[in-house]
Amino acid sequence: MSSAQRPHRVLILGGGFAGVMTAQALERRLGKRRDVEIWLVSRDNFMLFTPLLPEVCSGVLEPRHVVMPLRGMLHHQSTWCITADVEAIDTQGHVVTVMGGDGDPHRLQYDTLVLALGGITHTFGIPGLEEHAVGMKTLADAFGLRNRVIEMLERAELEDDPRIRQADLTFVVGGAGLSGVETAGELEDFVRRVRRHYYPKIGEGDIHTYLVELKNEVLAELPPEMGAFARQRLERRGFEVRLGTPIREVREAEVVIGEGEVIPTRTVVWTGGVRPAPMVARSGVEVDHAGRVKTRPTMETSRSTAFAIGDCAVIPNVEDPDGRPFAPTAQNAVREAKRLAANIVARIDGRPLSPYRYRTIGTLASIGHHTGVGVVFGIRVRGWIAWFMWRGYYWSRVPGINRKVRVGLDWVLTALFGTDPVQLKVEDASSALGSTGRRRAPVRDRDTSD
Ligand SMILES: Cc1cc2nc3c(=O)[nH]c(=O)nc-3n(C[C@H](O)[C@H](O)[C@H](O)COP(=O)(O)OP(=O)(O)OC[C@H]3O[C@@H](n4cnc5c(N)ncnc54)[C@H](O)[C@@H]3O)c2cc1C
Repeated sequence: MSSAQRPHRVLILGGGFAGVMTAQALERRLGKRRDVEIWLVSRDNFMLFTPLLPEVCSGVLEPRHVVMPLRGMLHHQSTWCITADVEAIDTQGHVVTVMGGDGDPHRLQYDTLVLALGGITHTFGIPGLEEHAVGMKTLADAFGLRNRVIEMLERAELEDDPRIRQADLTFVVGGAGLSGVETAGELEDFVRRVRRHYYPKIGEGDIHTYLVELKNEVLAELPPEMGAFARQRLERRGFEVRLGTPIREVREAEVVIGEGEVIPTRTVVWTGGVRPAPMVARSGVEVDHAGRVKTRPTMETSRSTAFAIGDCAVIPNVEDPDGRPFAPTAQNAVREAKRLAANIVARIDGRPLSPYRYRTIGTLASIGHHTGVGVVFGIRVRGWIAWFMWRGYYWSRVPGINRKVRVGLDWVLTALFGTDPVQLKVEDASSALGSTGRRRAPVRDRDTSD
């Protein structure tokens, strides 16, 4: 079928906040229109609600409750969810090649493209980081970190050698931004609780926790006194906070920081950087020095048929006197998506596009132990009230009543019964009985959704 005969196809790459919210906003705008179809490609068939990820690591929330099935979020008859890896993007030829679970490459043609591939953990070339550290970006990361921590506690109970035992019981978080501090808070909460109830041979003083940050402040996203409050609370709970200190090298059982200080540890959590999905820099649109897609305030890229949004894009803020772009946050991605959907429909209908404008409501962070910090509508909040606001806000943002109820129940049940150190060693069960692996087949053209 030629593109002149079929509906106008909007192809969205990425099933995170930016991609899914764009698809949802498009569905709402298009209503019963049949002249436009939406195809959404993502690696996973779910959307991950990242703000609650650290609570998966601590076992407060069940992993399945912080992800939402894409097929349950998108309902339009003309929407097609494709679970596949994006392998190549040709913005000149209007074709994207994806690799599905069948192992076959498929070529998807489009009329309008949305790049919403987000970011990946940036290791800055620090030796050993990729091999030995754990990230905090995906569900697998959170699950992996939880298992690693439990593994260390189990090993330490058996270990006689004090040096090895110290490495087992030392936990280092690299990066003291929002996700680093939230991860550190949850990690410490979890270790403290399970040690007390389940590991009688491990004393409170045997556990060592570090928060290492290159900048000279904790929570640089917030006013300095909020960061200072977070630091003081973490130190009170036993964290050694090292500011202005780079991580130099990560080895199997130690990490080198600052001027060569060696900390024995088998658990380094890295939250110190995110870079755009490498695929976008190879798509033929203009990118900045960091590889993020440069857009206009309307989210148009250097190719007129391609838009970019979310963490993989750098979108100028027309209201910022210094022209600084919007921060890569879920809060922005959700708002950008509404404007982008309006702009895509305007482009299809031949109307002018409008710039994305948004003034942030504020920022909140949970630092564990029922404590939070933040700024809301310019008002600084901290302590229990900030933590409560953090929970209330993110609970209200969890998509769908189904997941809202599950998350709410998890919180209540954890408050009543606590958390435990069950270590689920889940491998990919689908390959357990000898799968034949992926076939390679000729590239197929996909021009229709049937
Ligand atoms: C631990 C943590 C806590 C956070 N807390 C907050 C918070 O409290 N508030 C806030 O506003 N922000 C928070 N953020 C930031 C927020 O998660 C991001 O800004 C947001 O997810 C960006 O959305 P996105 O859709 O652009 O990217 P992503 O969410 O990264 O989504 C990108 C999607 O593209 C898919 N993808 C990537 N490459 C390919 C490929 N080659 N093929 C197929 N699919 C691909 C990915 O699987 C993913 O589904 C947090 C982030 C983390 C990691």
